[in-house]
Amino acid sequence: MLANRLKTLKPYKPGEQLTDRDYIKLNANENPFSPPKAVEKAVADLLNTNLKKLALYPDPDSTDLREKIADFLNQTGGVLANSENAKNQLNYKITPDMIFCGNGSDEVLSFVFYAFFDNDKKVVTPEFSYSFYPVYAGYYDIQLEKVPLKANFSLDTEKMLELGKTSTGMIFANPNAPTGIALSNTELKEMLDNFPKDKVFVVDEAYADFGSESAISLLNEYQNLLVVRTFSKSISLAGMRIGFTVGNPELIKALTTVKNSFNHFPVDVICKTVAKAALEEKEYYEKITKEIVETRDWFSMELEKKGYSVLPSKTNFVFAKKDGTKGIDIYEQVKAKGLLIRHFATPGIEDFVRITIGTKEEMIKLLQAM
Ligand code: PMP
Repeated sequence: MLANRLKTLKPYKPGEQLTDRDYIKLNANENPFSPPKAVEKAVADLLNTNLKKLALYPDPDSTDLREKIADFLNQTGGVLANSENAKNQLNYKITPDMIFCGNGSDEVLSFVFYAFFDNDKKVVTPEFSYSFYPVYAGYYDIQLEKVPLKANFSLDTEKMLELGKTSTGMIFANPNAPTGIALSNTELKEMLDNFPKDKVFVVDEAYADFGSESAISLLNEYQNLLVVRTFSKSISLAGMRIGFTVGNPELIKALTTVKNSFNHFPVDVICKTVAKAALEEKEYYEKITKEIVETRDWFSMELEKKGYSVLPSKTNFVFAKKDGTKGIDIYEQVKAKGLLIRHFATPGIEDFVRITIGTKEEMIKLLQAM
């Protein structure tokens, strides 16, 4: 009964959502802090005074949300943990026609694969990056050129560029996942300068708010650059499913065509209300993002004191291993004590565990369990 193409499809596996007991959840890079109170008020206002809005379709183009996102990025430069600096790097103004919104950045990424990557050449991507990319590639029958990471787990940008010359496009997460390691904008610029101008270069910045640089400040120089972002990590709204991409208006138009051929209304009325209210709370988000960064740096040092090797993270998670101990054993050991972290049984990274940064109290409990 199944269509042939489904027989080989390997779906994405997110971090476990177990319900057999109350876990401290440090396995899906969710934010340990709630969204700000203003969000609660905005939803209450919508439901109490504007319930009729739920009877109507939302604006298919999320016009007011895109305006708010543009404002927010102009104020933060795309790096909440270091917004003063990032804002100064931004020497042009982001406009709403540069923004496309979707039902989580997963959906946005899916549209990106469909809109910009052809089937007759390969898409260059690191061997280890967001594990949804191979799934989209399988779904759309697109070939990936997977480039091994360097010995220190950073991206092999030279090899990626060499293969990029004959590719149909490039995609990777920066900071990368699950390693947490970030390329600087200088390194990115060097890549963009040497990458074909008629192919799309996608930088997935799910974690850029936690202190790397953001490629958003490079968009005015590179018409083929697309930066994908999410509300699920720094903005504490994984449950709402909102993501977006920023890029040249021509690329945004192409994505809109794809969206309108699949689902006109990916961002619903409540989602938009929540997202807009959240974006009014820049100071709150700067505060919690900085707190997560501080906890991350402290936690990384504590893990090293316990004999772990920790990759240098610019995200809200760390990727760590301990010589002589299997990653799966660390995962099982802390799970038995009520803490969930992530282990990938993938050759090459199976010694590591990926640990989301929670509150300081949660991380103290995890350290005890490790
Ligand atoms: N990109 C990366 C690198 C991620 O880790 C994630 C979260 N799993 C996503 C995109 C998707 O996030 P969301 O769909 O929640 O916006």
